[in-house]
Amino acid sequence: RIVYLNGEFLPFDQARVPVMDRGFLFADGIYEVSAIIEGRLVDNAAHLARLDRSLGEIGIRNPHDAAEWERLQTELVAKNGVVEGLVYMQVTRGVYERDFAFPPADTPPTVMMFTQAKTVIANTLAETGAKVVTVEDLRWKRRDIKSVALLAQVLTKQAAAEAGVAEAWMVEDGAVTEGSSSTAFIATKDGRLVTRPLSTALLPGITRAAVMRLAAETGLTVEERLFSVDEAHAASEAFYTSASAFVMPVVAIDGRPIGEGVPGPVARRLRELYIAMARGD
Ligand code: PLP
Repeated sequence: RIVYLNGEFLPFDQARVPVMDRGFLFADGIYEVSAIIEGRLVDNAAHLARLDRSLGEIGIRNPHDAAEWERLQTELVAKNGVVEGLVYMQVTRGVYERDFAFPPADTPPTVMMFTQAKTVIANTLAETGAKVVTVEDLRWKRRDIKSVALLAQVLTKQAAAEAGVAEAWMVEDGAVTEGSSSTAFIATKDGRLVTRPLSTALLPGITRAAVMRLAAETGLTVEERLFSVDEAHAASEAFYTSASAFVMPVVAIDGRPIGEGVPGPVARRLRELYIAMARGD
């Protein structure tokens, strides 16, 4: 397995980062994840645009333009022979003597990428549907930044694992913010989709945007508004979206079945449409 680190393609066990890396010390860095389907990157321009924005928001210079990023990603995918899976990218504020304030501006960022081979399209969880639990949202106030500071999501996903379910939806003031690593949607009994509007309170999901476009193209109305846990429990369908889960039907929330307790037609249709888009159809 080959990883990319600071300009080099290295065997996995030779890719080392110094202990004074600010990613290690402070989680002072940004990450991004793009899916790979049939050896090609999915919706990658949007992921690279979000990476650039996240870096800008915390004042880390983007080391590459989008074309250079994509060239490096494509080379890494090819070197690893990944046909289906994901590519992970991370940029930290680099290596410097420990001090909270930024190091000198000429400190080079640490740039790292790896790939993971993974079944994305034929994911069996999408057939049965995922169960989720709801958990208090413990995160900071700039969730629009895709920061590597993920302790709240680690604890949240662990709560899901201990409950024996695939995902946890995070809740603030009674409203669902998003999943621990996904965007939350419900479908109402009269066939409208509901998802939280973008703000600093959640990550602007790239898959969210694509699914909203596909929904609009098929004539579905999408309402961007807050929805409560009670409303989710009473919804006719629920699902979540992410670069690696695509569109994942949700069949139970907190042990209560959603709709018929099986993947619903809206989520299944949107998953099919998204897969077609990802394949470049
Ligand atoms: N929300 C959070 C907190 C996430 O971590 C993620 C993905 O990791 C998403 C939403 C989904 O974003 P995307 O569709 O861009 O993968």
